[in-house]
Amino acid sequence: MKTHQIQKINTKLVSLLDANRVHYDAATCHVYGYDNSRGHALPSFVLFPKHHDEIVNILTLCSAEEIPVLARGLGTNTVGASIPIHGGIVLSFEHFANIIKIDPDNRLIKVQPGVTNLAVQQAVGAHGFLWGPDPGSAAFCTVGGNLACNAAGARALKYGSTRDNTLALTAVTGTGATIHTGSQTSKNASGYDLTRLLVGSEGTLAIFTEATLKLTPKPTHSITIRACYQDVHAATTAITQLLAQATTPSTLEFLDARAVSLIQVHSELQIPKQSGAMLLMTIEGDAHSIRSLADQVAAAATVTGTIEVLLAKDDAQAAQFWQVRKALSPALRRLAPNKINEDVVVPVSELASFLEFCQQLVENHPVLLVCFGHAGNGNIHVNLLFDARIAAEAAAAKHCLTQIFEKVIEIGGCLSGEHGIGLAKKPFMHLQYSETEIAIMKGIKRVFDPKNILNPGKIF
Ligand SMILES: Cc1cc2nc3c(=O)[nH]c(=O)nc-3n(C[C@H](O)[C@H](O)[C@H](O)COP(=O)(O)OP(=O)(O)OC[C@H]3O[C@@H](n4cnc5c(N)ncnc54)[C@H](O)[C@@H]3O)c2cc1C
Repeated sequence: MKTHQIQKINTKLVSLLDANRVHYDAATCHVYGYDNSRGHALPSFVLFPKHHDEIVNILTLCSAEEIPVLARGLGTNTVGASIPIHGGIVLSFEHFANIIKIDPDNRLIKVQPGVTNLAVQQAVGAHGFLWGPDPGSAAFCTVGGNLACNAAGARALKYGSTRDNTLALTAVTGTGATIHTGSQTSKNASGYDLTRLLVGSEGTLAIFTEATLKLTPKPTHSITIRACYQDVHAATTAITQLLAQATTPSTLEFLDARAVSLIQVHSELQIPKQSGAMLLMTIEGDAHSIRSLADQVAAAATVTGTIEVLLAKDDAQAAQFWQVRKALSPALRRLAPNKINEDVVVPVSELASFLEFCQQLVENHPVLLVCFGHAGNGNIHVNLLFDARIAAEAAAAKHCLTQIFEKVIEIGGCLSGEHGIGLAKKPFMHLQYSETEIAIMKGIKRVFDPKNILNPGKIF
């Protein structure tokens, strides 16, 4: 935006918000121009709205002036979804973060979008409930960001993703119109499901100002199980067997051989030396049932090629088991300066052959591969590690990434299980969707946002 335009728009914006919630200084604009993808672009303004009506007024103005608007949670998404590539206005939800109501009888909570995931979990935990989505970033990501990315986490196997745990939304479209989607009830067969459409739309269709989230009673007891296998094949056989029985774990995390060896080198944890793959599981129940449920799961996890299946004896040991998973990301940084971390999903029956494909692919290229993730959903974090300063490594990583995405689609999977598309996966959308399907999505975008002001340039 040119200086005279900034002055003109600033005058209009301070008539809509207090002046101290309208920023266009270089320092603030710089800070709000990045996200966890490490990309960066400068907005012209950063605004801190507090009320629904303020968002309506801002979007009405932006629609008239054709100014791009980007809603921002806390910038933790990994795909560039909150980088303002076309400048314009960043709306930060940091001051739009109240819990409006907890309703245990109807198993719901109503929140403003700037509330963190952890704050929701803590508030509803006090009433014996949980909210399904549990991203590793829970303490520093917002409900608005979770909604926009359809975020999930390890326990999506049992509780589903954000889309499965959202009852209703209040949102503002690109024309400044207020819409209410869904209902406060657990069943709703009235018309099109706009709630499920808006969840996962990455701020491109409407800006959320209120969300009604579906709660689930929190189990009173849980047991963590760690299982080590000779190789990926044994681990994936166990996964199929585990998912085919009535008692399934609420989390089922997979770590490949390199992930396991990283932990062996960089942590104090005792893991059998010959382990070529590992599964981490949580079993939930009540005081009476928990032990027998855990035994059933441990039995199903035992297949040819199993080295050991260990039930954590107490919470401290369970925390130690999970520490393994948490230690992974920092350990990856020691292998190479750059990392591409994708979150592809493949049919569970194809896990073994997919992981084998990835391993064979990188053997012919100067990149390292580490795979781990939410195996119960077939959602694997494929990490390609390389040094971007070395042209051959950067080119190899790009090449392998394309090959991996093509393989994922060929075997019936999808590009993203929980991170979204943003900028990072936009060049690959044509692999998953036909021209007609993308044209329908673009048509939907035009209905909600005819002037293309909402987070333009993302998804497609
Ligand atoms: C260490 C770490 C661990 C992570 N672990 C997981 C994980 O386990 N599972 C997982 O799914 N993700 C994970 N993530 C990714 C990230 O935390 C999620 O994508 C999260 O949902 C982003 O929330 P945010 O508040 O940071 O949103 P941002 O990154 O600020 O924004 C994300 C998107 O939401 C949109 N948005 C934000 N607020 C609104 C609103 N009010 N209305 C409309 N659109 C809005 C933005 O425009 C953008 O498109 C992790 C990230 C990190 C850094």
